[in-house]
Amino acid sequence: MPQTQGLINPLFGSDGADNPLGVLKRIYGYSSFRGKQASVVERVVSGGDAVVLFPTGAGKSLCFQIPALCRDGVGIVISPLIALMRDQVEALRQLGVRAAALNSSLTREEFLDVRRAIAGGDLDLLYVTPERIVTSAFKELIGNARIALFAIDEAHCVSQWGHDFRPEYRELGQLAVQYPGVPRMALTATADPHTREDIIDKLALRSAEVFTTSFDRPNIAYEIVERDQPRQQLLRFLSRHKGSSGIVYCLSRAKVEDTAEWLNGQGIRALAYHAGMERAVRDANQDAFLQQEELCLVATVAFGMGIDKPNVRYVAHLDLPGSVEAYYQETGRAGRDGLPSDVWMAYGMADVIHRGRMIDEGTSGDHIKRVERAKLNALLAICETPGCRRQAILAHFGEAHAGRCNNCDTCLKPVETWDGTDAAIKALAAIYRTGERFGTGHLIDVLAGNRNEKTVRFGHADMPVFGAGRDIPPKTWHSVYRQLLAAGLVSVDHEAFGALKLESGARAVFKREREVRFRKDRPTTRKASRSATSHSTNARSALEGSDMQLFEALRAARLAIAKELSVPPYVVFPDTTLVAFATDRPTSRDALLGISGVGQSKLERYGDAFLKVIRAHRE
Ligand code: ADP
Ligand code: ZN
Repeated sequence: MPQTQGLINPLFGSDGADNPLGVLKRIYGYSSFRGKQASVVERVVSGGDAVVLFPTGAGKSLCFQIPALCRDGVGIVISPLIALMRDQVEALRQLGVRAAALNSSLTREEFLDVRRAIAGGDLDLLYVTPERIVTSAFKELIGNARIALFAIDEAHCVSQWGHDFRPEYRELGQLAVQYPGVPRMALTATADPHTREDIIDKLALRSAEVFTTSFDRPNIAYEIVERDQPRQQLLRFLSRHKGSSGIVYCLSRAKVEDTAEWLNGQGIRALAYHAGMERAVRDANQDAFLQQEELCLVATVAFGMGIDKPNVRYVAHLDLPGSVEAYYQETGRAGRDGLPSDVWMAYGMADVIHRGRMIDEGTSGDHIKRVERAKLNALLAICETPGCRRQAILAHFGEAHAGRCNNCDTCLKPVETWDGTDAAIKALAAIYRTGERFGTGHLIDVLAGNRNEKTVRFGHADMPVFGAGRDIPPKTWHSVYRQLLAAGLVSVDHEAFGALKLESGARAVFKREREVRFRKDRPTTRKASRSATSHSTNARSALEGSDMQLFEALRAARLAIAKELSVPPYVVFPDTTLVAFATDRPTSRDALLGISGVGQSKLERYGDAFLKVIRAHRE
């Protein structure tokens, strides 16, 4: 199918509104810009460069789409994944925007069509991969056509510090030289100082204005639990999300497959996704996740970048990610539509050891390894904090938050703390007396006074510290060691198979110059762990009675349209728009236009279909 035919340039419609706000209203159906969107748009429309660091869901796409529509020529969007360009292009075409993607899946016919559209000035937005854009073939394709702007999406891929490093992104700095005078923008939801510096430096954006906003995602509820019976814990978490879609992250491919299979056995529809799968199956599973509304995708981190499904209602981690940045990026895939969403993680000491080993055995240089270890420790500290998780996470990104967010597990069910100075001294003494050569399992055997082969063989059973920790259950000792690690009082020696070593701060504890407080672990009985954040997270939860029935009817109508067009339902309308239909009940085309998310093109396409459902519901 030719990709640009049959679409009228929306800018030159009858009312000729081509100022940014006019475009926002008429094409997108939104009444106002959000946050700093307007400033970004203004900057780029007037020809300036911009670096846009907004969290997921803040609305980065409009920041480049609207300037592309307002400026002369085609806006070129550099996006890392071909598979996802299709949905973005389709969503734009639904809005009446003339968009196309240039990738290897185009037929010759389609390619010529795109070329003609570029030459004729009949294209508003063109999506291209980073490897293609720097080729001479691309330069030829552009020829003398005008370029409105370059938008480099997922710009953190340029940075080695990030978690999605793509060498091809490094070449994109050339655009400044190859196409002087064309405004360039870089956009990402990852904004730690290293990554930010790399974006500005490697993408030649020194003269760009940098736009940042708060990284808080107030609609996401955070919960982190100690791993106990991970599958049962996961099942309980998922039981709060019947009827919605989400992602479960696992570290290994094998675990992804096992978990997906097990969930299906438990009556939860789940599909697997990892880089080792056959491409066709993997793509089919990704498509199913995008298209369907009640599916659990079990995946490695290979999944997720560029996924803009707005109604991912939950993200679960069965293993600890490698850094706060990765955790935030992965959990950030929940709740793009701004509706309440839950993220949950189960973790234990084994994760910390495993992750640490991955860093040590990695190929990075020493300096980067040090940074990676620091990043892992920062995440551990967030896991072990007795304070507000949101505050701790945002503090990591250099943002102050007052705490008490009331939307994280520690705020909703404050953790108690206890004076752990005596316990800390015993735990540290066990490490010291046994020569800093043993991991937590053995150290706890020593503290608990377990006379086994190993404690006897090493002579530890004869030491004064042997049995000194009988007053505290082993489970609590595990928690004590995790917290000592999070506090930087001990470290893991990965070369010595996870042995714990003392750090310099331990001295002050021994000498009682430093008091230590520990968080109390929550009991993991079924009832207690049923969740600290147990509000129901569903678009429907805001609706009652007949509104809810109408919402379901609207959803069914949306699904039928989406199937017909083979696009994901949210491309037709997001849930938020359907919720507004169900509560405001517009019964005329004008009233429909007043609802956020309804622009001219969608009104023409679907207005009548939805009006029919709303009217039928009144009778
Ligand atoms: P990001 O790329 O920053 O993660 P998106 O561009 O996908 O975010 O936008 C997230 C959601 O917010 C989308 O559904 C988008 O249509 C909506 N949105 C963006 N800007 C506005 C606005 N000014 N008014 C209303 N909705 C908006
Ligand atoms: Zn909180």
